[in-house]
Amino acid sequence: MPPRLGRERGQLGEAGPRVCPGRTMGGVDDSLDNLVLSARARVLADLVARHQATAVAVSALEEACASRQWWAQQWPEGDVYVAGLVAQDVQDALFEKVGRWPMCLECDDGPVHSLYIQPDLGGPDPVWVCEETGEVAAALGHLSR
Ligand SMILES: [Zn+2]
Repeated sequence: MPPRLGRERGQLGEAGPRVCPGRTMGGVDDSLDNLVLSARARVLADLVARHQATAVAVSALEEACASRQWWAQQWPEGDVYVAGLVAQDVQDALFEKVGRWPMCLECDDGPVHSLYIQPDLGGPDPVWVCEETGEVAAALGHLSR
């Protein structure tokens, strides 16, 4: 009869299968932290490589890391996508506020164009790909200056 009890039970039951038991332990939370830190480092390296590590970009990066950390907590299998998704989030935020990043430096002719993350889902093994040719420019975190 008490609906409150029933609802609480329901919530626990629903949360059960989604939450990896390890995630509640300190050790695995650390690995999630490390995952997000490493994603942050890779995207920051690419911002620095293109002289775009501005206050706007860094705060977009912090925001993206926080929201993707939350996202990875909800979906532990999503780990491999986190770095690429953070890069895409920052790319979108910069596009709205500053302009395109990162630009393609590989192509000599044609209009100036961007790189984008491949696979589009953000991973696994995210790389920057030329928008025009589809050629891989660099792995995420390894853009040339
Ligand atoms: Zn290109």
